[in-house]
Amino acid sequence: MRQNLVIGNWKMHGSRSGNEQLLAGLLELLPSSLSNSVVAVCPPALYIDAVKAQIADSVIQLGAQNICAESVDQGAYTGEVSAKMLAEFDCKYVLVGHSERREYYVESDAVVANKFKQAQAQGLTPVLCIGESLEQREGGDYIAVLTAQLKAVIDAVGIAAFNYAVVAYEPIWAIGTGKTASAEQAQDVHAAIRDLFSEHDAAIAEQLQVLYGGSVKAANAAELFAMEDIDGALVGGASLKAEEFSAICNAAE
Ligand code: PEP
Repeated sequence: MRQNLVIGNWKMHGSRSGNEQLLAGLLELLPSSLSNSVVAVCPPALYIDAVKAQIADSVIQLGAQNICAESVDQGAYTGEVSAKMLAEFDCKYVLVGHSERREYYVESDAVVANKFKQAQAQGLTPVLCIGESLEQREGGDYIAVLTAQLKAVIDAVGIAAFNYAVVAYEPIWAIGTGKTASAEQAQDVHAAIRDLFSEHDAAIAEQLQVLYGGSVKAANAAELFAMEDIDGALVGGASLKAEEFSAICNAAE
């Protein structure tokens, strides 16, 4: 039985005082224990330490938005943060392959696969984000696009690595646009993703958490989570508001 997972991606938002307020609100609104779900937040790297201190002993887990692709713990890579550094601060999850990184920082499938590997090498769970553009969706070949994104990583890391990974389906046309995929549209894609994994390994396909991301909010979360193959959400904008995010988490629980 798969647990739901809700991850808040704060992107490049926040401030010391704003984060404190947001977390204080969440800690008040979330239950003190969760049995059917897991909740995590991914702040900008600079705030990870302060967030870690504030969520200690709570239900909220910590994640990061990015990781160095090189297989080194430290070195001459200006501006990068290694997997080992994230592990030192108890990050459990790290996003890899987010469409904003693929687009603005030209991260290729090969780079995404390396980031995935580095995360696992330090015991972090990579959250592999995949998604199609509006043009690809309307062109009708979006399942092939998603399959290619997944296959590139499966070929690089091996199917067994997905025993310790999460996949997030995030249609690019739904990210930050207010346009959510309907629960049925999302379910169709999630089922196709699970089918692809079951061609490799049925047990992995069955246990793999596949999150949906793209304008998830309190108003549409329950409908999405009711779908058989949707195991939670990757949440951007709504994760910056304690009431919205806690309502999404409560729907997942
Ligand atoms: C995201 O950035 O992963 C995301 C899904 O953003 P939003 O919820 O704002 O669409």
